[in-house]
Amino acid sequence: MLLLNENAGKNIRIVSVSDDLNKLYKVLDVRSLTSDTYILRLERKNLKFIAGQHVRVRIPDHQQFRLYSIYSGENDPYIDLLIKEVPTGVYSPLLRNKKRGDLLEVKGPSGSFTLNPQYLKSERFLFVATGTGISPFHSYILSYPDFNYHILHGVRYAFEAYENHVYPEGKLTICTSGDDKGHFHGRVTRYLEERINSTDYLVYLCGNSNMINDAIDILKSKGFKNDQLFIESYF
Ligand SMILES: Cc1cc2nc3c(=O)[nH]c(=O)nc-3n(C[C@H](O)[C@H](O)[C@H](O)COP(=O)(O)OP(=O)(O)OC[C@H]3O[C@@H](n4cnc5c(N)ncnc54)[C@H](O)[C@@H]3O)c2cc1C
Repeated sequence: MLLLNENAGKNIRIVSVSDDLNKLYKVLDVRSLTSDTYILRLERKNLKFIAGQHVRVRIPDHQQFRLYSIYSGENDPYIDLLIKEVPTGVYSPLLRNKKRGDLLEVKGPSGSFTLNPQYLKSERFLFVATGTGISPFHSYILSYPDFNYHILHGVRYAFEAYENHVYPEGKLTICTSGDDKGHFHGRVTRYLEERINSTDYLVYLCGNSNMINDAIDILKSKGFKNDQLFIESYF
């Protein structure tokens, strides 16, 4: 069944009722990881995605939407999103209050912050995240368990290094700026400055744009080329 919608004349968009229903996903669970970070679990339906992609989430009847990287693996029977509640934010507090059975509009997936399967066997990857920027890396690791990577996770306090038991021994370096209870006391950028002495990596950077910009400057000063650097900026 077809309905005409929006802007009669120019830019006519034709949508079907079944298309709109297909975009509505049930909330399965909202699970807190820390006081300000939670996992929003949605039904999987038939959403296909490549690890590293994001979805566009809208609360029905809300005018705005937000983008979230997919935290779960390609073969998981649900879609997990790792979300930081920004106290002054519009969406992240609302999503935290969702209950099992509530509906959210989910569109996508989109994005090309993905790993080229050709390189998985041959390349060494360095994943650099701040906060919830670890989400796409978590999805890579669940989706492709056997490849050569190391993760730097920048958080203020070590307890904010979400679900670090998932990463095999030696694969994760928690960089803490607010305490010395991680593996490295300092920001991820300081780790890059002090500890990365080889350019033999493809580097993926995700999270806060200030970190990404600073990290790119550091990596380029060490000889990394543009085609070795991949970025996903959240804010
Ligand atoms: C491609 C893409 C993928 C994203 N994936 C994720 C994700 O997996 N998890 C996630 O939590 N967010 C993610 N974001 C950010 C997300 O889309 C929202 O911006 C965020 O949830 C804040 O929305 P809000 O409405 O609560 O706050 P807003 O009212 O939109 O913004 C308030 C302020 O919050 C700050 N802010 C935004 N995001 C964060 C954050 N993660 N941590 C700290 N401060 C922030 C910004 O300074 C912003 O100006 C992603 C953004 C992009 C572009």
